This record gives sequence, structure tokens and C-alpha cells, in this order.
Amino acid sequence: MPDQPLLVFGPRSSEYDFGPAHPLTPRRFGPGIDLLRTLGAEPGLAPEPAPDSELLWSHTQAYLEVVKRFSTDVSGRAEAEAGIGPGGDNPSFADMHDAAAAVAGGSIRAMEAILQGDVEHAFHPGGGLHHAMRDRASGFCIYDDPALAIARARREAKRVLYVDLDVHHGDGVEAIHAADPGVLTVSFHESGRYLFPGTGFADDVGEGPAAGTVVNVPLPPDTGDGAWLAAVTSLVPELAAEFHPDVVVSQHGADSHLWDPLAHLRNTVTAMGAAARLVHDLAHEHAGGRWLATGGGGYDVYRVVPRSWSLVWLAAAHREVPAGTPEAWRARWDGEARRYGQAPLPATFDDPPTATEPSTERTIERTVDAVRSKVLPLLRAAVARS
Ligand SMILES: [Zn+2]
Ligand SMILES: [Zn+2]
Repeated sequence: MPDQPLLVFGPRSSEYDFGPAHPLTPRRFGPGIDLLRTLGAEPGLAPEPAPDSELLWSHTQAYLEVVKRFSTDVSGRAEAEAGIGPGGDNPSFADMHDAAAAVAGGSIRAMEAILQGDVEHAFHPGGGLHHAMRDRASGFCIYDDPALAIARARREAKRVLYVDLDVHHGDGVEAIHAADPGVLTVSFHESGRYLFPGTGFADDVGEGPAAGTVVNVPLPPDTGDGAWLAAVTSLVPELAAEFHPDVVVSQHGADSHLWDPLAHLRNTVTAMGAAARLVHDLAHEHAGGRWLATGGGGYDVYRVVPRSWSLVWLAAAHREVPAGTPEAWRARWDGEARRYGQAPLPATFDDPPTATEPSTERTIERTVDAVRSKVLPLLRAAVARS
């Protein structure tokens, strides 16, 4: 078994593009994949569109038809439909269906490589489109590639632990698998009181036979990296030990960062990297090493996203974090970063820690305790029944 994780990236990755003014820009792949390459990472799986028969695992036929219509008739449609179209977060673009289906295909094929034992770990930086719902687009997400990768594992009856570390609630993945007690979704995010999509509160724990297999940890603005990592560290290992997953899927959106223009958690890439190592270790401890990591949001695409991707990859490659980012990498991307107001590029992979107010820390501890005491008995019961 190769010691390198499978890196999912190819020409199709940059085709998922809502246009030059949109925050989720394929420009992130330039500095991001370049920094990964300086570490010795090489793409080993180029995403290709998943067929409709696979997209239908998590989406409706009617929704696929809407996406396809928007893909061929980009300018002629005045009205938004199923979350796609003018005036919203998800404007249509030419060949949108193929581009979105390719993101899905990347995550599904990576999951297959893991299930077949070709690789232990895979990382799909362009994946993690966690807001897409069964029948509509949402939050820059057309097809829900993490949900589809999970669905692929469920076809082999594998129990799946999904850990969502993006600053936004992983609402699409949660909704698509909420009724399935074989999927445990855990989302840490800035509270829906302050941030899109406005959901994912602590008492949302799933319903019916799947009660306890939905976990949400809403965090206040200015959480800070120590408190963020403490929340992840205090909850996820306990949940994994109760749930006994066969495979772990995680979403590593970098938009919880201090410099992210869309959110307010004041996290660091250092804490994100530590969380990736925690998820990695849990995959070995509980799931035979089977781990699919995806990217996600992240809108400081020069200073933050490349380093966060590198720290996920380094965790999956069983490598220590190098002392500094390569000077040549910084030189190559400095001019472009400057044009977009995201310079200078950091000289280290780590960030200095951010502060947390004592009152904020206590709020977070109370939230984590409340989630734990509500979810654990329900999760134990759900596992006992399965
Ligand atoms: Zn996000
Ligand atoms: Zn490993």
C-alpha cells in the first residue's frame, strides 16, 4: 500500500467556476496545488463527471434536469430555480452539470479506491460541497460530493463517520443522511444565529431511529483557535469510539480562519492541521485507516487555503510540518496575491495562536457539554439497535 495519500485533482477541477467575481474561485488551485507539489504531493486521480445513476444516490431526477437546463441555457433564463440562477449564490455557467458532476465523481472514485484497499487515505481539495441538498443548490454547492461519497460507502453497508470542520454548517450532508443510523454527521461551525445557512443548533440531533447520529456544535464569533480545537478534540474521539465507523469522511473548509472574509471564528491553520491529524488518527484507531478528506470553503485563497490543504495532506502522508513555506512558492504567487489583497504570503505553515475571551470559552464549553449529554445516550441506543 502506497504511503502517499491519493490526491484528487485534474483539469476538470478548475471548470467548477461561477465567474470572476464569485468567492469560491478556481484561482485557489494555482497556489494550492503548487504548494502541495513543493511537498512532494502529485495528483493521482483526475475527477471526471459521475454518471446520473450515481448522482441519483443523493439527488432527485428533477433536480438533475434543472442543472442540465441551466448548463446549456446560461443567459436565457431570467428566473432562479432550485437555488440556481441570477441574483443568488449559485449563478449558472456553461457546462455547470459536467463540472459539478466531476467534483462528485472525484469524491466517489476516491471513496472506491479506499473501499477497494488501493489506498488508505485520499484527499480531494476541490471537494467538500456540503450545502447541496437532494433537490436544490445552496451555498456555492451544486452536487453534494461528500454525501455521494458517503452513499457509495453505504452501498457496501459501511458505517460512516462524517466530520465537518468548515465554518458553515454541513447542512446538505446532514439532511441527505439524517434518516440513516449508519451515518454519523458531526458539524462544527459558526452559529446559525450569525452565519449562513442559519441552521445546525446544539439540540438538532436527528430523529426517529437515527436520533443521536446528527451532531451539531454551533460556535460564537471570535471563538479563537484554542477553543475551536478544544471543542473538536473533546467531542469527536468520544463519538467515534461510540459509533465504530468503518470509514471516515471529513470536510476541511478553511473559512474558519482569522483572515477569512466571509466568517468570524478567528481560527488558525495550525488548529486546522491539528484537527486533521486528530481525524487521521481516529480513522486508524476505529476504521482501519479508511479516510477520505475533502476541502471546502475558504476565501482567503492565497494566504490560507494552500497552507490548510498542505496541513491536511501532511497529516494523511504521515509527515511532519516543515519549518517554512518555500521561498520560491511565495515568490511565484506574491504578485497575484497582492492584486487580490491577500499578501504577503506567510513564511510558515503555522499561524500564531489567536486569543479567546474567557466568557466565550465558557460559552463554548457549555455548548459542548450540552451536546455531549444530549447526544451520547441517543447515539448509544442507535448503535445498540443497529
Ligand atoms: Zn464554508
Ligand atoms: Zn495514516
